[in-house]
Amino acid sequence: MSGPRRKDTDTLRGRYDTSVSRGPEHRIAALTLAALTCVAGLIGTVNLCVDGTLHQGATRTTYTVAMAACLVAAAALAVRQRAGRWQTLGLVALTEVVYVIVVLSVSQPAQATPLMLLFPSFVAAWFLGPWMLGATMLATVAACTVALGHTYDGALSIAVQVVISAGVLNTAAFGVYVLRRRVQRLLEATRALSHQDPLTGLANRRFLVEQAPRVWRQARREGSRVAAMVLDLDHFKQLNDAHGHAAGDAVLRTVASSLAATVRPTDVLARTGGEEMIVLGLVSDPAEAHRLAERLRAAVRTSRTDDGHSVTASIGIALTRPVDGEDAADAMWRLVDRADGAMYEAKRAGRDRVAAVVPRQRSVRLANSVPPAGRAAG
Ligand code: GH3
Ligand code: MG
Ligand code: MG
Repeated sequence: MSGPRRKDTDTLRGRYDTSVSRGPEHRIAALTLAALTCVAGLIGTVNLCVDGTLHQGATRTTYTVAMAACLVAAAALAVRQRAGRWQTLGLVALTEVVYVIVVLSVSQPAQATPLMLLFPSFVAAWFLGPWMLGATMLATVAACTVALGHTYDGALSIAVQVVISAGVLNTAAFGVYVLRRRVQRLLEATRALSHQDPLTGLANRRFLVEQAPRVWRQARREGSRVAAMVLDLDHFKQLNDAHGHAAGDAVLRTVASSLAATVRPTDVLARTGGEEMIVLGLVSDPAEAHRLAERLRAAVRTSRTDDGHSVTASIGIALTRPVDGEDAADAMWRLVDRADGAMYEAKRAGRDRVAAVVPRQRSVRLANSVPPAGRAAG
């Protein structure tokens, strides 16, 4: 994961989970659905006690079971405060069935309008995926056909009523679905932008901080160490002064894409300052971190803009073993501070080289990897 691009493309393709399952807004949605289902169940239950509202006989039992199902579903939703796609589909299907049962049970079916299905249709359109929404739309047509067939006489008049009612409901649902897709895309684009450095397309500081808990968790799970590498381009101001800011920007972009192609898929590569980048990744030992840092140094050194400008980088490495209970973001910044110290050692020693903090003694030593140009300079 060199930056937000890969992750966000995945998220875009995989879609965010829009079911009533995660996050505070989904908790509110679940509680709202629970409240509405409960109100429907209670109103229906009151009808049981009002003389003349329902038919006598078997439908009364079915009606009672349907209302009880509404109240049980509402209670379950209120307790869990979330619902996956299947539970949401189940809830929508329940309301469709309950609508049909109400129409078949009440003594004046015309009063049970198909508009009762409007809210379930919106829920399906907002929370369910395309095929589940399609199934719900078909169920709406079926429910309207049964209900209106019971209410009206004559095939033509039933057909007209079904077309009008199911058509309005499904068109409204489809409109909500289109709206939701647009909102979702907008949110995804905003989220991607908020994690991205606009010049290089690399991840930014915010993304790095957000990734820290994941990296720390993974390190604890695998028993590996976390390595932070701080890269700072050498004499970048001189390059800007000599060739202009646009040339400097082009170098930054070229270096960024070389680094992105060099880091491992699980590493986080972020631009955290002007010409400073950080790589955060898991390693089994210091030698592995060192090899990666050397690859990064070589990637910077060999990258060249279309105008032939190139640059070198000094890299500082620090390693840590995550411990239980520590705050990942705080621990990450402590680690980055140490890597930063090592990076300044690399600068002092002549630039275009890698320096590492020795983990135990926490002293700074220069890695034995000075490049030919570095040797000449040092
Ligand atoms: P050193 O080797 O010691 O790191 O020297 P340096 O010149 O790289 O360091 P210094 O901190 O003196 O200068 C960093 C320069 O990076 C200054 C600033 O103009 C330039 N810079 C920062 N952000 C950008 C940017 O987005 N685009 C361009 N073109 N230049 C930038
Ligand atoms: Mg700098
Ligand atoms: Mg610099």
